[in-house]
Amino acid sequence: MILYSYGDIRAMVHRSLDDASMVSVFPTETAVRFWTNDYVRTSEKGILRHDSTMAWDTFRSHFLPTGDAAPVNGFIRHLFALHLLGDPDTAASLQWFRHPTFPESVGNLASTVASLLPKLQEIERMRLVKGESYDRLPLAYRNDAARLQVAYGDFLAKRNLFEPRYLLPSVGNLPSGFERNYRIFFPEVCDGWEEFTLMSHVPAWIETCSADASKTESSLQVYENELMELRACMRRIGELLDTGQDFADIVVTVGNLERWRPYLEHEALLCDIPLAIVEGLSPLQYPPGRFFQSIQEVHAQSFSLDAMKSFLLDPRMPWKDAKVQRDLILRGLELSVVQGNPNPRKDDWQVKLARSLVKTDAQLLIWYKAFKVRISSVVAAKDAESLMQAVYVLQEFLLETGSWSETEGGDLHSSVYAYCLHQLSELGKAVRSCGFTTTQALVSLFVQFLGKQQYIPRDRPPGIPVFSYTVSAGLCPRYHFLLGCTQEDIGQHTDQLPLVPEPIWRDDAANDRTGLFLDHYRVMARQVHISMAQATFGNSSALAPSWFVDHDAIEMQRYVPADARTREQAAWAAAGATPFKANAMQSRWFDQACRTAFLPPRFDMADNKAVFSVWDRSCKGEGHLSLSATALDMFFACPMKWASSYLLHLGKGTFDTVSLDHAAVGILLHEILARFFQRVREESGVFRKELVDRYEVLLSASIDEVFTRFAHSPQAPVHTTVQYIAERYGTELKAILNAEGDMFDGFASWGFEISLEHLYAQSDCLLNGRIDRILVQDHADGTQTVAVVDYKKTYRGSRKAYDNYAQGLPSHQLPLYAKLIRDSDSTELGQVGTAAFYSIEKGKYIPIWEESQEERRDGMIAILEEHMLHMVDALRQGRLGATPSKQACANCDYRQICRRRYALV
Ligand code: SF4
Repeated sequence: MILYSYGDIRAMVHRSLDDASMVSVFPTETAVRFWTNDYVRTSEKGILRHDSTMAWDTFRSHFLPTGDAAPVNGFIRHLFALHLLGDPDTAASLQWFRHPTFPESVGNLASTVASLLPKLQEIERMRLVKGESYDRLPLAYRNDAARLQVAYGDFLAKRNLFEPRYLLPSVGNLPSGFERNYRIFFPEVCDGWEEFTLMSHVPAWIETCSADASKTESSLQVYENELMELRACMRRIGELLDTGQDFADIVVTVGNLERWRPYLEHEALLCDIPLAIVEGLSPLQYPPGRFFQSIQEVHAQSFSLDAMKSFLLDPRMPWKDAKVQRDLILRGLELSVVQGNPNPRKDDWQVKLARSLVKTDAQLLIWYKAFKVRISSVVAAKDAESLMQAVYVLQEFLLETGSWSETEGGDLHSSVYAYCLHQLSELGKAVRSCGFTTTQALVSLFVQFLGKQQYIPRDRPPGIPVFSYTVSAGLCPRYHFLLGCTQEDIGQHTDQLPLVPEPIWRDDAANDRTGLFLDHYRVMARQVHISMAQATFGNSSALAPSWFVDHDAIEMQRYVPADARTREQAAWAAAGATPFKANAMQSRWFDQACRTAFLPPRFDMADNKAVFSVWDRSCKGEGHLSLSATALDMFFACPMKWASSYLLHLGKGTFDTVSLDHAAVGILLHEILARFFQRVREESGVFRKELVDRYEVLLSASIDEVFTRFAHSPQAPVHTTVQYIAERYGTELKAILNAEGDMFDGFASWGFEISLEHLYAQSDCLLNGRIDRILVQDHADGTQTVAVVDYKKTYRGSRKAYDNYAQGLPSHQLPLYAKLIRDSDSTELGQVGTAAFYSIEKGKYIPIWEESQEERRDGMIAILEEHMLHMVDALRQGRLGATPSKQACANCDYRQICRRRYALV
């Protein structure tokens, strides 16, 4: 029987379901569920006998031969392929399915061969009845397929197994009492129908009902890009729901659901449209699956810092001892660990932690060793039982006890974990039925297999069902939205064989079932919306299906955004409000915001008004404020920044791998310069320009000593990085010889890394600073010139920036040092005559003031004193208002927690 319209189809299916003597067969279980629901929901009876419907697969299975042999499954196919390719003689005999130059590719090839095994019979059939298609296959491929068929047949026969896909239907296999009246709906989209019709005799008690779209007009709506297409669809569905349409009346089908899924879920959430994606995710997308995958990755990547980081810092896992793991990674970063090694003496983690002087590293080393042993035993397991055992041991070591229970029916993660363990035991059964005693890389096979499975959670919330293309064949809803219908994504080709170049099967018209499915979808709904976009989410361009091009049925669509934000912008632009109906989720958000974010905060420390006194906390109970140049700089850049750092003690914690630790390099450079000038002092008292050649030897010795020690320290980065640091900075440092000669010829180094502090009782401030170097020059008249120097690895400032010091100091550092030296009794030095930064990168001094510029120096010190008073006053009053600016916020560590950064445009 041929059905031409939505009404005819529904009427016929319902008539069939009404008929107690008839069994209705639908293409899939999904279609069975759809029609059963539809009938129960809309028919007068409201009830249906469970044996009046059947899925095509179940129906067909009654026509297949039965015996005492067991069917193979994906695990068995994969194990067979793995062992076959692992055998050097068999592998050498293959021409297409081997890569002799890449022996490590066996794992991937095994997966391809496993997917080919069920199709070997089809290739044979192709050879017999479709000679032309068969001849299109490369000769090496045909030869390998024949070899594989012989080996596979042999393997199955020896183990009393059978390949379900090789069985052919026959009436002779029917069990007694099966004969009833069967009506097969939509046989054109039933998998294996063609083969079924080739049976020598098709019983008369089977009748068919096909859907025919020849009288249906359809068009393809084409959008500029897939986001527009998706949003237009969501809007249309939203309108339908607003008019009271039932979820069950709407179905969404997507050409490539895997690609669309994240966008679909995101947009649906924003629009408050409840979608129920019928297809499950791979268990690897859930934490328990990821747990197994990470074990394999950590081992495959030799315990590299990156692999360890992504596993041990994964916040989704119920870690037993997350702190130890975090500490281990932090130490790994600090010690520049690259990767582990089976040999403890070559294992970066073990070597560096063992050599470290930090006390807590010993504990981390013990933990790491235990972790390594457990991971290695999971990976080394060659049979499923020992793999399962090793997994339990690792789980007990890493995870909170009882966090993922191993029984189905617990929370989602427990269920997924139970599912993974069930798959593992299935793997064990498969290994046993294959008769293999050991299998290499079992965990990797298991993870690969998990990646191909779909986990479907039991309690899926109700919503509009979303299917992949072809999965929804046989459904006939009121509204069907077919999205992403590009030629590529809805193409259906039989005889699509793995590892065969696409043009070979794509151009074979006999294998093309694209039109057949499209015709089916075109007629199977009251309203069918078929759409695609010219640009995909991946930003590649897509082509329209040829049917629409041939029938001149393409409609270009212009997308007009109509979400809340766009409407609000339009309302502002037009200076007039337009009515907007918020959906349920938007109303919820608004209500919540009215009670939280829209209210002024009780304590807004970022606001420039007194909130509460922070003075006591700033003084840490000492009665005075301890102030350094960095604290002052930070406060005057932005008080909020200072409060975050000094008051709240928030520090930037980074888990990023750095190939070059700039702070550590800075410390090394300071040490080299201190050593060098110490030697100069011992050698000649004052620096003499004419002795530069001799000084060069001293400097080289200091550079060598410090970098050699660094290269052997536990925190040393890889050898090449150490070499780079030594070469680059070794060269740059030499420039100080001439710069020193020009600037401080005749000066003696008075002290290095000198810590000074002085209490200013009047302002309740304890000023402190650590000065890189103080120099003095004694004059014949008994007077003395004092100079201070601060080394900078890279210095971006300039002397000019200090010319307008009255408007603000670029840095309080040198004026603060000058003030400390002047006021401190411990040095007994006078006023600082010269203050300069030394840029190691540029190899030159940048003096901020020099001899005879007392006015400039005193001016800067006066500004510093003003700032001290101002800061004390602000803290006493509790004023910490943020002062956002492009400059201050650009590299601020607290951007992520600061609301004021939004003030920047
Ligand atoms: S982001 Fe800007 S405003 Fe916020 S604390 Fe940092 S510097 Fe201040």
